[in-house]
Amino acid sequence: MNYSLNVAHLYGNLLNTYGDNGNLLALKYYAKQMNTDLNIKVISLDDEFKADNFDLVFFGGGQDYEQLIVSKDIASKKDELTKYIDDGGPLLAICGGYQLLGHYYIGANGEKIPGIGALDHYTLSQDNNRFIGNILIKNKRTHEEYHGFENHNGMTFLGKGEEPLGIVESGHGNNGQDKTEGVIYKNVYGSYFHGPILTRNGSLAKHLLITALERKYPQADLTQQRALKISETF
Ligand code: GLN
Repeated sequence: MNYSLNVAHLYGNLLNTYGDNGNLLALKYYAKQMNTDLNIKVISLDDEFKADNFDLVFFGGGQDYEQLIVSKDIASKKDELTKYIDDGGPLLAICGGYQLLGHYYIGANGEKIPGIGALDHYTLSQDNNRFIGNILIKNKRTHEEYHGFENHNGMTFLGKGEEPLGIVESGHGNNGQDKTEGVIYKNVYGSYFHGPILTRNGSLAKHLLITALERKYPQADLTQQRALKISETF
């Protein structure tokens, strides 16, 4: 392998519902075709996260119970995570992880679960309802379509500097009201898509890997990596 990337899997032993860990398999699959080795490390409770030690970060989703536990711990990683994000580090966050990057999430029982506020969104809860089902969105800039499956109680509202990952064509999205789904902020992608998102939407995996390679190897000729064709068969 010519290249190697250090990947942090945030709270991988706690937030890993609906096959979210499959995103790492998809990243490995595409990374291999880009001559790139991934060294994946779970960073969980009481572990140190140092922004400079990682080239790519994945943060999955989970139940409110686990999210509350993570919420208490992630406060100690807030500064370094915010630094990583502000410096343009690539990060993919799904559902619970996406919620925890924002200011707070009001859980299904009304409990306020604080996030790190690195991104400006916040998440409210629905009364006795969840958004569940297949979803299709379209990104306005790239015109890429993303397919997925959503299952969440939270209703997320985007804030300053945040663009949606896509506009909802069918399904519910961030909040069921404004047609937005997910977020793009600097090189952070957030989404409610389980499934996992990267197996069905390889172009996103490619964006993340290319960004990580460009940051780590600014002098490298990445022509072969950029030319990689993504086959999406669904
Ligand atoms: N517990 C959160 C919610 O219901 C996140 C769920 C998830 O990650 N699937 O909105």
